[in-house]
Amino acid sequence: MGEKKVKYLIIGAGISGLTFANYIKDDYLILEKEAEAGGYCRTIKKGDFIWDYAGHFFHFKTDEFKNIFLDNVDKNDVIYQEKCTKILYKNALIDYPFQTNIHELEKQEFIDCLYDLFNKEEKENYDNFLDMLYGKFGKSIVEKFLKPYNEKLYACDLRTLDKDAMGRFFPYANIKQIINNMKKNEDISYNNTFLYPKNGAGSFINILYDKLDKKKILLKTTIQSIDIKNKAVKTQNGDEYTFEYLINTAPLNHFLNLFNEEKFTNLEQELSYNKVLVFNLGFNKKSKLVKEHWIYIPDKDCNYYRIGFYDNILNSDKLSMYIEIGYDKKANINVEEQLKLTLENLQKQNIIDKEMILEEHVAIIMDPAYVHINGETDKKVTKLKTELNEHGIYTIGRYGAWTYCSMEDCMIEAKKLSEKLSE
Ligand SMILES: Cc1cc2nc3c(=O)[nH]c(=O)nc-3n(C[C@H](O)[C@H](O)[C@H](O)COP(=O)(O)OP(=O)(O)OC[C@H]3O[C@@H](n4cnc5c(N)ncnc54)[C@H](O)[C@@H]3O)c2cc1C
Repeated sequence: MGEKKVKYLIIGAGISGLTFANYIKDDYLILEKEAEAGGYCRTIKKGDFIWDYAGHFFHFKTDEFKNIFLDNVDKNDVIYQEKCTKILYKNALIDYPFQTNIHELEKQEFIDCLYDLFNKEEKENYDNFLDMLYGKFGKSIVEKFLKPYNEKLYACDLRTLDKDAMGRFFPYANIKQIINNMKKNEDISYNNTFLYPKNGAGSFINILYDKLDKKKILLKTTIQSIDIKNKAVKTQNGDEYTFEYLINTAPLNHFLNLFNEEKFTNLEQELSYNKVLVFNLGFNKKSKLVKEHWIYIPDKDCNYYRIGFYDNILNSDKLSMYIEIGYDKKANINVEEQLKLTLENLQKQNIIDKEMILEEHVAIIMDPAYVHINGETDKKVTKLKTELNEHGIYTIGRYGAWTYCSMEDCMIEAKKLSEKLSE
């Protein structure tokens, strides 16, 4: 097929690509490798169960983006929840975050945490994420929860992460807040309430998709290479497109390999991140846990770091779970073995019992899942972005920009870029 000219060529129909297209309202074309739009915000329906790619909950900061969805759905299809999140610590459930709920631990553990919290050595500047944790919370809180949990999640040495690697998503707390919380429970995390569509996160994303001209979204179209000099891309099926602006939302590691240039592939090698194996599990009846929305598991003997309960969020009558297991980017994942281990651990933890039947399940590998934020690499990524901008190429979204952000953050960034480019 011949070459086609497009003003705004968008790679990826996830929430970032769809939002950009919704705001640019000009000559755009989205190329998406999958058979459906949505990226990581897609929803899977199997039997009686509705699942996302791991829990995808909306914690809106702005009315503008919240209303894009709420104005377009039946009000009865939206659930608002005050979150009920726990930590499974030594066979007991304590409230999350650990650092503000140490008073729920057994007496000696509580004393150790409190003692170390008072005697910690705070610094002006921290060298890395782990250093910051020790400095702000003291040895016991770090070693009982923050270190093992985050090592399971990020699947890396926490000293390789920036002190602010989790940004606003990390529940900081000072001694005053910790002590006050012992008397009056005040959740200080960014997401103490959330909103969730009954038909899964994908039903919200479909609203963005439905507003677009379907002729301008090419599904099952994978970009194979990018030619910066000629401002052109080639797809796997041999089509060529030239662009004035290229908006990438595919993961940066993947994107860098499309240029076929050594300096880009070298940077790709340096990017550090984890991948997450997600199991969505549907059982024939409910678990004994009927309130909890999600639970954090710091115990290194257990394969998963977090589990969630769709049935408790949706008030449905069969256990419907997501399970998250973190891996290094290079790890080989044995899905069958992990499923077996997961079911064994759920039984050991009394979350399921022997009589419960697994009716449906799916496994998804999110690769990448969490970007490892590191100052040195960050500088190189910023430099690269500036260089690409000079060629009309922009890379946005959680994975395109190589950052840690929410779905709404992706929308905010995509809208800003569309405004900047149409000025
Ligand atoms: C475990 C986990 C839990 C999360 N939970 C939440 C949550 O509760 N709330 C929240 O707000 N956020 C959550 N997130 C973050 C959220 O998933 C992301 O912020 C958001 O989905 C990113 O959207 P995106 O459009 O930038 O990228 P993506 O969704 O990754 O979209 C990129 C698109 O590009 C396509 N693509 C890739 N390569 C090519 C190619 N060569 N050619 C064509 N197309 C290509 C992909 O198929 C994909 O559709 C979570 C993330 C993880 C990993």
